[in-house]
Amino acid sequence: MAEGKSRHGFLNDAMNASCYRGRLAPSPTGFLHLGHARTFWTAFQRAQNARGTLILRNEDLDPARSKSQFVSAMIEDLHWLGISWVEGPDCGGSFGPYSQSQRGDLYRSAFEKLRKGHFIYPCTCSRQDVQKALHAPHAADDEPIYPGTCRNNTFDIIGNRKVNWRFRVPDGETIRFVDAHFGPQEFVAGRDFGDFVVWRADNVPSYQLAVVVDDALMKITEVVRGADLLLSTARQILLYNALGWEPPSFFHCPLMTDASGIRLAKRNDALSLRTLRENGTMPTDLQRQFLTGF
Ligand code: GLU
Repeated sequence: MAEGKSRHGFLNDAMNASCYRGRLAPSPTGFLHLGHARTFWTAFQRAQNARGTLILRNEDLDPARSKSQFVSAMIEDLHWLGISWVEGPDCGGSFGPYSQSQRGDLYRSAFEKLRKGHFIYPCTCSRQDVQKALHAPHAADDEPIYPGTCRNNTFDIIGNRKVNWRFRVPDGETIRFVDAHFGPQEFVAGRDFGDFVVWRADNVPSYQLAVVVDDALMKITEVVRGADLLLSTARQILLYNALGWEPPSFFHCPLMTDASGIRLAKRNDALSLRTLRENGTMPTDLQRQFLTGF
């Protein structure tokens, strides 16, 4: 095995880089739970091992679901756990912290680039229209595969209507990447995922667009996040290509489940960091558990 290469040929490349830049990207829509804690601890460890930078990015784009009390709670929980956002060498990017709600102009200009390049189209379908038109089974991440009803819409159909803007995926094309934890991955556009929204009818950029713009402009070299986003990574690689940007490396963490095998969610309070802390769990107990976790 060549020096500096891991089993998957990727891991140590990112770790050895003197300009490693990672990020913590929580959404303030609820209290952090044990699964978030393990992912963020992993991100923190990888940035520290690389003597790099770790940026905090508050993903508060969704005005209906983001609450300021959860922003302060997540910062407090992360500090309690022993995680801090660290500044490594100056590699040309800034250090944050950032809030996505303050970065609308950046998302808008990426959107305009996609529109001018004819990568996206306006879609007038409601969620119910999409569900009704479905013949194919749902994709693994539960987002229905868009049946393509509006694919040939031209920009002038919009008028005063509120539309979703969708990215037209290259049907049949295989998107490949090497995940630093799970190894080689491949997903087929149009089969594993369909045309996805980049700008919502309520005038909010989608998660997919915002995260690509941010990771690129913040010069993130490695994205560490939960395995529920593996399929989204394929979508995001298409956006990087369309915008002419180089994708970062990826490390997806296995998801945590509760005792009955159900994936942890923000609505399950039992394993929130708050509840664990109230019940006497110490940060060191969790850190030890994470080290042996996977
Ligand atoms: N904000 C997203 C979440 O809390 C994570 C996004 C990402 O890491 O790409 O699930």
